Amino acid sequence: MLSSKKGTLMRILLVEDELKLAEYLQQGLSESGYVVDVAHNGIDGRHLALSGEYDLILLDVMLPGMDGFEVLEAIRKIKPVPVLMLTARDQVEDLVRGLHDGADDYLVKPFAFSELLARILALLRRRAGNRSVEATVLAVADLQLDLVKRKAMRAGERLNLTAKEFNLLTLLLRRQGQILSRTTLADQVWDMNFNSDTNVVEVAVRRLRAKLDDPFAAKLLHTVRGMGYVLEARDLIA
Ligand code: CA
Repeated sequence: MLSSKKGTLMRILLVEDELKLAEYLQQGLSESGYVVDVAHNGIDGRHLALSGEYDLILLDVMLPGMDGFEVLEAIRKIKPVPVLMLTARDQVEDLVRGLHDGADDYLVKPFAFSELLARILALLRRRAGNRSVEATVLAVADLQLDLVKRKAMRAGERLNLTAKEFNLLTLLLRRQGQILSRTTLADQVWDMNFNSDTNVVEVAVRRLRAKLDDPFAAKLLHTVRGMGYVLEARDLIA
């Protein structure tokens, strides 16, 4: 997982009309730390692609309303966002055309989810180009987060985190020292909008804290009353 310019989670737009596949991919990508929007036809896909801010677009070729190539053409007139085309085996020839038209890569269905993740990471890295690519390990004090292996260690012990807890900790660690409001966390980690109930954040923070801080003397995750939460090493000099 890489961060976007704003230090938030990466946003992916998935344009796929096979509902089950779309649902499966959305869930898998969310669990892998991406924020995912889904469109089920070409028209909605084009609209979201042009109006939203995405770090990457996964674009099926055969779509109702408007096919993937037409959507790609519309995107390319306006945006340099990386586009990974998804296609059936018998359309591979068309994909050569897709690559000419500005797609960055393609995957033939059916594909392994791990392969999709690897291609996504490669495209995001390539896009980062000469800009400094984010470190894949984040750390503060005795806490280390390996973003590629999705492994959290504290004082040499592995923390057994859920996918959401890992994403929550990633965001807090990436913005260490900054107070993050419940609303920000709800928006970034759960993709919930402003009006959502932020109780889910409080519950998740409590669970995360039980694993991250409770077994250790020095606390890293702090509540700032009325404002939110901040991750920082405050009292490690003991
Ligand atoms: Ca399709």
